[in-house]
Amino acid sequence: MVAKHAALDRLREALLSWYRIEARDLPWRATRDPYAVWVSEIMLQQTRVETVLAYYDRFLKRFPTVESLAAASLDEVLKAWEGLGYYRRARNLHRAAGGIVEHHAGRIPRSVSELRALPGIGAYTAGAIASIAFGREAPALDGNIIRVLSRLFRVSGDPQRAATRDALLEIATGLVKPGNAGQVNQALMDLGARLCRPRSPRCASCPAASSCAAHKHGEEALYPQRPRRKAIPLVHVVAGIVWDREPQESGAKLLIAKRHEDDMLGGLWEFPGGRIEDGESHEEALARELCEELGIEVEIGECFMELDHAYTHFRVSLYVYECRHTHGRPRAIDCADWAWVLPEDLDGYAFPVADRRILDRLVAS
Ligand code: SF4
Repeated sequence: MVAKHAALDRLREALLSWYRIEARDLPWRATRDPYAVWVSEIMLQQTRVETVLAYYDRFLKRFPTVESLAAASLDEVLKAWEGLGYYRRARNLHRAAGGIVEHHAGRIPRSVSELRALPGIGAYTAGAIASIAFGREAPALDGNIIRVLSRLFRVSGDPQRAATRDALLEIATGLVKPGNAGQVNQALMDLGARLCRPRSPRCASCPAASSCAAHKHGEEALYPQRPRRKAIPLVHVVAGIVWDREPQESGAKLLIAKRHEDDMLGGLWEFPGGRIEDGESHEEALARELCEELGIEVEIGECFMELDHAYTHFRVSLYVYECRHTHGRPRAIDCADWAWVLPEDLDGYAFPVADRRILDRLVAS
């Protein structure tokens, strides 16, 4: 698909006029500091703006420059990221900060190709940083923009496929111009987030309605043309709150384990445990997992709580049991590290959201 220049010019003007009045007031839009723009774009990957708002300022206060981020330990960065999810982003941000200090004298690279060479920066994020922070003529295709452009130009085909992606990229490239590329990209993002929503787009309020092919044909719901999603699998997992003595005794400590850095949620701490295999009871699975992961034996008590948690590609039902350690000094057999910790000191460790819910219940009980 080749969008005509005049049509793109009209659309760009309509978007920019709307954006000048309707732009969302977001803290990362008050700056063109490339470091702050980079942090905001990484936080916004697969995460809602409302969630990021609670982290962005705090993170920048804690790590105000790329040098301070590079100098911090990974544990400190994960702690500041705790609860934001997709922790690979925090690990990549930390690694990239080290690379920027080492190879770019602490200055964030300006070109899309140099940005893409950094860990955790793909085509979209590189385009967003280059256009917003440096005014580069770079397109940025995120989920919102793909939806908006697919509808505006009735782009057929699954956007995951290269041919569809190329068609969208060609349109997005035609829309960005020197001097306003960042604004065009942000206008498209805002339009997708506020009006051109996945369901029930608000076409009556849309500044681009007169240019929108899908709207003209009443086919808004048909674009983007994504294949049907497969059902998300459910995994059953058991975890132990392992005490070194009776929990009511003074000085009683809990055992926590650190996940391998390359694993999902890598580098975070958790209550040890794992997947329940077919035919296993919860207790059998927990005893096996604690032995395989840490080389310990425990006495398993009552079920402390059950909780459900959804990740991107699967859901988890987690069964949590209180346990008393009986045999074996813990060893990091299938985890990166372990620690006995007083309950009041657990706050100093970074946990995934599901484990944080266990901690909240522990504090409340
Ligand atoms: S007219 Fe409707 S479908 Fe088209 S871009 Fe605007 S909100 Fe989206």
